Amino acid sequence: MSETESGSETNEFESEAKIDATSTPDVSVEYPLQVDGLRKTFGGITAVDDATFQIENGTLTGLIGPNGAGKSTTFNLITGMLKPDKGTVTFNGEDITGMEPHAIANKGLVRTFQIARELEDMTVLENMMLAPKNQRGEKLWRSVTPGVRNDVIEQEEELLERVWEVLEFFEIDHIAEEYAGNLSGGQRKLLEMARALLTDPDMLLLDEPFAGVNPSLEKRLLTHIHELREQGYTFLLVEHDMDLIMENCEHVIVLHQGRVLTEGTPADIKSNEEVIEAYLGGNV
Ligand code: ADP
Ligand code: MG
Repeated sequence: MSETESGSETNEFESEAKIDATSTPDVSVEYPLQVDGLRKTFGGITAVDDATFQIENGTLTGLIGPNGAGKSTTFNLITGMLKPDKGTVTFNGEDITGMEPHAIANKGLVRTFQIARELEDMTVLENMMLAPKNQRGEKLWRSVTPGVRNDVIEQEEELLERVWEVLEFFEIDHIAEEYAGNLSGGQRKLLEMARALLTDPDMLLLDEPFAGVNPSLEKRLLTHIHELREQGYTFLLVEHDMDLIMENCEHVIVLHQGRVLTEGTPADIKSNEEVIEAYLGGNV
């Protein structure tokens, strides 16, 4: 399929993506995300310095490290928000280094975004309808259907159906008519994740998704993440709560001063002296 992202104005409702939150992403690569020698400096600060790691398909992997270790910058480099000075990002076997965020999202690699202020005056349902639509498959679909206009209504219905499925999955369908600005911190996080899921991703990057979320909603969010992981979605999670990481991730990568200090199972990481030292010295 083509990488062309332009000319999508006539078909914002894409018909092929089956994101009913119960379908399995179509990924056959063992390590869908590969980060190799990634580097980013800001003035004199090296935020990410030769970071190299790969993420196994269908896992929930934790990316941890002390404050300023380069976790958020790494996420920004992976998702196209920032361009690396050096290094490559490969997703599903394709070099996506330096691509625009929407192009990367269309390839199935998405991060969650906070609900922007202008969306607070819209309902949950409206927020979902405005979520960026996946355009994967669009080109192919268009080329086999020259007279597309009569299918637009059908596509909109399909989108609406999908929106409701995702809302139900996250158990926020009962607040569909509520204004996004009135949601609790945790409900917002659920909506953010629901919006991300609408783009039909293979892999989701979550940067501190539990910040400001009460314990019962945190539990619910985690349950949904595990359910999605079991369906085959891949997650990379940045989270400062070490216990949460250790209890929920099968693999943990430790960043320190922009580099991978070590990686392994939670048990490996917990007992690693270098990690303990990095954390003790990390905030000075
Ligand atoms: P983490 O998410 O692990 O706490 P960050 O990736 O946010 O770390 O930051 C890594 C380092 O890069 C820090 O020293 C931070 O101050 C610096 N940094 C991050 N973003 C910028 C920026 N836009 N301009 C200048 N320095 C930045
Ligand atoms: Mg951060």
